[in-house]
Amino acid sequence: MASLRIRVYGDPVLRRVADDVTDIDGAMANLCQDMFAAMYEAPGIGLAAPQVGVSQRFFVYDFGDGPGILVNPEITDSDGEWTYNEGCLSVPELTWEIVRPRSIHLKAYDLDGNEVSIEAEDLQARLFQHELDHLEGRILLDYLDDDQRREAKRILRQRAMNGQGPPAGTGEGLSLP
Ligand SMILES: [Zn+2]
Repeated sequence: MASLRIRVYGDPVLRRVADDVTDIDGAMANLCQDMFAAMYEAPGIGLAAPQVGVSQRFFVYDFGDGPGILVNPEITDSDGEWTYNEGCLSVPELTWEIVRPRSIHLKAYDLDGNEVSIEAEDLQARLFQHELDHLEGRILLDYLDDDQRREAKRILRQRAMNGQGPPAGTGEGLSLP
């Protein structure tokens, strides 16, 4: 199984608006398997295709109750507000308090091309919104104020100069204890 490199902040693919998936084929199914492997290894609970350099609208996730894949996801409704300490595999080791809607309604397709409709709340809603951001070319830094963003960029620059890769233990969309 090929091992995928998780792209980190600074990689232009993270800023691209991903394309709709038009064809769910065997190659995409294989890519999803590789994405799960990279996600579990990180470890994380979600990984969007742009994070492995593929600018297409799908992501994989696992909250601990089995793997899931959502294709061409769309949030059709959202409600409430919730502040939570959020991290990202593409901005390793840093987390911030981010405000997002607490619950969402999401429409997407599964790997068989069937339409799925999901009511998600709390962590699940948080992760789905986080992954959708990746498909829109948005990352956590976009939610920060100027001072926070400057500090984050300083740390990331420092790290790049030291040649440090992404450390283990940062949960995608979630700060793990
Ligand atoms: Zn992320």
